[in-house]
Amino acid sequence: MPLFLKPIFLDKVWGSDNLRQFGYQLPNNHIGECWGISAHPHGKSVIENGIFAGQTLDQVWNNHREIFGDFPSKDFPLMAKIVDAAAPLSIHVHPDDSYAYEHEEGQYGKSECWYIIEADEGAKITIGTYAKSRDEFEEQLEQGTFENYLRTIQVQPGDFYFIPAGTIHSIGAGIMAYEVMQSSDISYRIYDYHRKTDNSEERELNIDKALDVINYSNELPNITPQNEVIENHNCTHIVSSDFFTMVKWDISGTLNYMKPREFCLVSVLDGQGKLIVYGDIYEISKGSNFVLTSEDLDSVFEGDFKLIISYI
Ligand code: ZN
Repeated sequence: MPLFLKPIFLDKVWGSDNLRQFGYQLPNNHIGECWGISAHPHGKSVIENGIFAGQTLDQVWNNHREIFGDFPSKDFPLMAKIVDAAAPLSIHVHPDDSYAYEHEEGQYGKSECWYIIEADEGAKITIGTYAKSRDEFEEQLEQGTFENYLRTIQVQPGDFYFIPAGTIHSIGAGIMAYEVMQSSDISYRIYDYHRKTDNSEERELNIDKALDVINYSNELPNITPQNEVIENHNCTHIVSSDFFTMVKWDISGTLNYMKPREFCLVSVLDGQGKLIVYGDIYEISKGSNFVLTSEDLDSVFEGDFKLIISYI
């Protein structure tokens, strides 16, 4: 039985009410993130259907590991969310697993991948630095000129970017992105535009840890999407990394889905239709998030929609 999940909304200084277009009832008009699939302690998805209704994803992960193919990881390993940046996110960086394990009490590090859903004309992301060493970057920070050392790229809807741990990054204003990532919420902020939150304080920066983890090699990860047509549907392998694989499907009609792993994360980014599992029909539409479990071997998608499916 697929696990349909209730979205979690997060207030952000850079948020807005754009996520209403996913059919979500937002609690206010400065929502920056919708966590669609999460078992992270900072936001645990609640299951909406079936025998596990009302339980959180991490509860089911801990007590019924068999429906995840007995996957050998203490915590549910992935997260999927939508980020809506009315204003830019802070310039920040995430640690890798070994740094996070040592400095953040055994937590996961964070590599992430973005699929750009919407982008205003000229909207930009920041990804990577031209500084060649910690000393060079630190000097630029002290002189207030570090922004000249950041790589910015104009983006368009349909673009995607893999952000390995250690890559400085930020989503710029006017961008909505779907993100898949390791289940981690550790960010080291480098710069936050001296913005103030509701309590008139600037958000905390974590410069020392950021300098520790930044990758100064200035290489962008080389990801080349692989397109294929399966049963008349377009399927794009966006990224395959050590941490996750992310695949976009443009479905029109009926797809008998061959689940590639014991469990997969699925988000509907556009359109609507049905998921049929062993004859049980689930209506799905833009904004739906669910996990296909090891029991869901006979899954059929029917309708016109765009999905992103992720797995390890
Ligand atoms: Zn990030």
